[in-house]
Amino acid sequence: MKISVIGTGYVGLVTGTCLAETGNDVLCIDNNDNKVEQMQQGIVPIYEPHLDVLFERNIRAQRLRFSTSLEEGVKHGDIIFMALPTPENEDGSADLSYVLGVAEAIGKIIKEYKVIVDKSTVPVGTAQKVRETILKETEVDFDVVSNPEFLREGFAVDDFLKPERIVIGSDSEGAIKLMKKLYKPFVRSGNPILVMDERSAELTKYAANAFLATKITFMNEIANFCEKVGADVDHVRVGVGTDSRIGKRFLFPGIGYGGSCFPKDVKALYKSGKDHDYKFNILNAVIKINDQQRKILIPRILTYFENDLKEKTFGVWGLSFKPETDDIREAPSLYMIEDLLDRGAKLKVFDPEAMTNVKKRYGSKLIYASKMYDAVTDVDALIICTEWSIFRTPDFNKLKRIMNQPVIFDGRNLYDINDMNNEGFFYSSIGRKEIH
Ligand code: NAD
Repeated sequence: MKISVIGTGYVGLVTGTCLAETGNDVLCIDNNDNKVEQMQQGIVPIYEPHLDVLFERNIRAQRLRFSTSLEEGVKHGDIIFMALPTPENEDGSADLSYVLGVAEAIGKIIKEYKVIVDKSTVPVGTAQKVRETILKETEVDFDVVSNPEFLREGFAVDDFLKPERIVIGSDSEGAIKLMKKLYKPFVRSGNPILVMDERSAELTKYAANAFLATKITFMNEIANFCEKVGADVDHVRVGVGTDSRIGKRFLFPGIGYGGSCFPKDVKALYKSGKDHDYKFNILNAVIKINDQQRKILIPRILTYFENDLKEKTFGVWGLSFKPETDDIREAPSLYMIEDLLDRGAKLKVFDPEAMTNVKKRYGSKLIYASKMYDAVTDVDALIICTEWSIFRTPDFNKLKRIMNQPVIFDGRNLYDINDMNNEGFFYSSIGRKEIH
């Protein structure tokens, strides 16, 4: 099939590449000239495990091409995916200007029947808005389908190739048939393609993300309470997670959720509720608790250093919002960094993949270490913000040797508290007793 993908970010590039992998002729469009130039030269502009192999293979086979021309994209695809940003407006609602702007442009270009698929995360009613926007520009027949994406950054290729489910929101038999044909190779193991009305499809994505953010936040509150009553969240987590109704995943406490999806999606759903005269009390609480959780280590750091961070240097391990990605959007590390910089601290930072993005944002305000141990040499404390595997089993003797003092504030509970006690560290983590 001929496929176009408009917007070649984390979702669009993975979508385009994986659809090329199953034999489709894919043209990816982006309005960022540099990005398109890079991709045309065979460079993957983001870090996503396994993407490079598929990317190169499909470019070589000429099934995957890139352009900045929306016109070319609209002409090429029988199915046109929109994988465009839907960032947060100031009032928390989703900014639909990218989606509706492209819809309007499509309306001006379209000459024959196309299926226009919304892959972006958008509030209920957006497919209808897209339809109305295109209809203002053309009389050509087309269908709009809601097809929210559930991939996880860091596992995006695997998630796209083997999705747990595919959601298709449409009432057009023709469009549903085409979408099912396109996705058939990805559900050979029997996972479902769920067909529903477009409004339910749009809400399914927000409901999933809001539920996951709530699950994380619930466990963060339990962790905070563990500290008050002398319980250990690691035991509590395993104790509750073994109940199959609850499940083991998404129960790890930490310094809050981040990323380009959960924060904005929870807020957008809350705002949608308000717009429809419905108050999502639970989401209101989730947003507030997560805001606090992102800075939960700060008062502990202040207490340890007697409220004076001016002459202090901290090493920071982990900057991306989660492991296996270079994405720093809404990363808890950034909240930590900004707070500590404001208090006059010096920061030496290290992340396996996110350094370029962090450098773009902070320039000379930070010291950038090229290796993980360089980030902790001569520092007064180490702060861990992201649970990359390489941080899990460091050489503690080396740490003690190169740090000014053996002090770790761990926002991801990477180490056993007894080990840290035996190693002689001051160790503060989430939902467990502090080791002095
Ligand atoms: P992104 O910012 O990584 O990518 C968006 C791309 O669109 C960028 O490359 C940008 O240059 C391009 N773009 C912007 N305006 C354009 C235009 N007018 N024409 C062509 N290209 C344009 O965003 P993303 O993370 O891929 O997210 C896209 C959507 O998918 C969002 O709605 C997001 O909520 C949703 N989503 C994201 C994820 C994720 O893990 N990142 C997962 C599921 C759903």
